[in-house]
Amino acid sequence: MTIADSSACIAANPMLPVRAASLKRFISFSGGVESTTMCILYGKGSTAIWCDTGAEHDLMYNRINEVESELKVLHEGDFELIRVKSEKHKGLEDYAKLRKYMPSGQARYCTRLFKIEPIDNFLGTQGDCELMVGFNADEDGRTGNLELKANVKYTYPLIEAGLTRDDCEDILKLHDLHPNFPVYMLRGGCRMCFFKSEKEYRAMYHLNKKEFMKMIDFEEGLQDKRLKFHSILSSGKSLRQLAAECEREKAFLQLSDFTELYKSLKKETSCGAFCHR
Ligand code: SF4
Repeated sequence: MTIADSSACIAANPMLPVRAASLKRFISFSGGVESTTMCILYGKGSTAIWCDTGAEHDLMYNRINEVESELKVLHEGDFELIRVKSEKHKGLEDYAKLRKYMPSGQARYCTRLFKIEPIDNFLGTQGDCELMVGFNADEDGRTGNLELKANVKYTYPLIEAGLTRDDCEDILKLHDLHPNFPVYMLRGGCRMCFFKSEKEYRAMYHLNKKEFMKMIDFEEGLQDKRLKFHSILSSGKSLRQLAAECEREKAFLQLSDFTELYKSLKKETSCGAFCHR
């Protein structure tokens, strides 16, 4: 299918609700499956907003640039992608290190300060507008961690169109825009995300050791004066200990060892509306 064919297909698809033309339209963009699908289907005339926590995986920056340039072509220049970040704080990892305070399910300041607030601050300057949120039809009823701004109309076009996760993946493959993230990136856009399990950090070690080593530095920088340990892993095991285990298992490891992990994580949606999924 050529780009022209696919554009015609998008325009002609009766399943897709017509977006209100009167409001300025924004897409909550994370780089993942659902939000990229929204950029394909509803990106023409819209602006995608991506929020950089400062702790994103290296591959994510490449992904954002790739989607931006491909979508500009697909929508004949009538598509914009903007990058926002916290104006108050330097970045999530610096914030955590300075305060010796790791985000967690109980203390999820990461999403609030480094995703929701910067996006809300930006949207607050835009007058009446629409923000498209990428929950799919399998997630009907979910509202996510959105602050409701009075000037913003929050819409869920994938749910309205009845598009499931599988449908979104098909659309992305058709456009050759599937993220195909490595398994350690499937949950949590941030490389130090507490949603990732030991198995995912193990995969990060074997598939992207350079990034894993940066996470060791980050974790060790989180220790307080008493050397009380703030670990990324909920078990309390340090990443340095995990690295030693990974080194020992390296000789016996097959890449196929990650297949089951990939399958088990593929449909998980741990983070909220603004975090990468
Ligand atoms: S990806 Fe994880 S660490 Fe990053 S903002 Fe979301 S929940 Fe927090």
